[in-house]
Amino acid sequence: MEATEVRDEPPASGSDRLGTTGSVDKLASRVAQRIEAEVIAQGWPVGEVLDSEPVLRERYGVSRTVLREAARLLEHHQVARMRRGPGGGLVVCAPDAEPTVAAMVVYIEHVGTDLRDVLHARRLIEPILGKLAAERIDEEGIGRLRGTHAAELAPTQAGEWAGGLFHSVLSEMTRNPVLQVFIEVLEQLAYRYVALARPMPADEVRRFTKATHHRHAGILDATVAGDAPRAQVELIKHLDEVSEWFGDAIGGAGNGEGPAVRLAPEPVGLAAGRTLAEVVAMRIYGDVVRESMAAGTVIGSESELMERYETSRAVLRAAVRLLEHHSVATSRRGPGGGLVVTRQQPRAAIDATALYLAYRRAATGDLLVVREAIEVGLVAQLAARREEPDVARSLATMGDRLGRPQGDGPDRDFHADLTELAGNPVLTLFLRIITELSSRTGASGGCGHQAGARHLEILGAILDGDVSLAQYRMRRHLSL
Ligand SMILES: [Zn+2]
Ligand SMILES: [Zn+2]
Repeated sequence: MEATEVRDEPPASGSDRLGTTGSVDKLASRVAQRIEAEVIAQGWPVGEVLDSEPVLRERYGVSRTVLREAARLLEHHQVARMRRGPGGGLVVCAPDAEPTVAAMVVYIEHVGTDLRDVLHARRLIEPILGKLAAERIDEEGIGRLRGTHAAELAPTQAGEWAGGLFHSVLSEMTRNPVLQVFIEVLEQLAYRYVALARPMPADEVRRFTKATHHRHAGILDATVAGDAPRAQVELIKHLDEVSEWFGDAIGGAGNGEGPAVRLAPEPVGLAAGRTLAEVVAMRIYGDVVRESMAAGTVIGSESELMERYETSRAVLRAAVRLLEHHSVATSRRGPGGGLVVTRQQPRAAIDATALYLAYRRAATGDLLVVREAIEVGLVAQLAARREEPDVARSLATMGDRLGRPQGDGPDRDFHADLTELAGNPVLTLFLRIITELSSRTGASGGCGHQAGARHLEILGAILDGDVSLAQYRMRRHLSL
């Protein structure tokens, strides 16, 4: 059955009921959210059966169609899956970071970014890896990290490079799930540039692989020795070398002066398609990104898409629901209708991250340490760029606004404005996720008492071009 509008059974008593009308998709995503909240509230009991399908339908007052669509979303998020037969029902799963990373990469790719943004984000975030990994690694971790490093020089597919895994494994040693997810996103985005940089002369690739392996050895030793400062220094040197190499490979983009390289072919988001619908969604999404389709572009009618992607109507519709979920495209009726590219929205990425971090029981401190690294880095960048006309104008506007007496409470837009001014979509998404998750857990995120005055001081140091003072003031503001 492929109804797009349903009238569900009349609701019985019970506060969980979600109403009787509405599109399947909206109802389904609300049911999925309720169930996700329930899983979190129960402490994420992996392997347990939540309830049978009839019981769940009764509880939420929804039809079979809606519940099945909700189950599809829960499966997409790796929260739960429907087990059929006797003793069946919704079974709680143990998610990995993949759906979260995919949701973030989809959003970032759809917004569009460039190599410089990815490298700059890595440069700000990865040094904390060195510090935390050296402080928190254990015997098992040492074995894993050494094993990963030893495997780097093993022969891989032509032109393939195994070095990226080192950073992922290193990030696990920090026991900070926020860092782990962000590093994975950066690694996936960076990997595409390695692919993009081909064809590189083979001996050049060999030279880079060897140099990387050598640098990783330094990071590994410092980490195992618990020498946090040395681990950080080694990581920073390594990232500078990587930036230089990428810069040379693609034409000066790595040094911050060359042309911005637009993220191009072979999108990685949604790459680990498990269901047929996910695979089809990934292919459509790949075409949207590859062809840089703007919002409003018609990708095709249903029948065109069924033909182009060689798929059934049912699978295509399930794929379209996934694309709608990720704000990539939506179906529009009527003349000129079909599947249409939508404006990027970070909602799916933020929700997926919130879900995964709830599963991992991320602490407020895990968010804050990453936020500090990013924001302290951003003020330094802005202080250095304060004379660029656009930046100067925006900073002046911010100063005017901050100088006016505050109506009610602190100016919470200050941090968002700084982030936007820096203009790095990768960091903008990371900070938006951190800010929203911090506020969900009730943490002030440092923006409390006398925030207005602190913001003015930070802005003052930026306008003076006093990089270190701007960093000091931001760090102090965030740690209070
Ligand atoms: Zn590396
Ligand atoms: Zn603040």
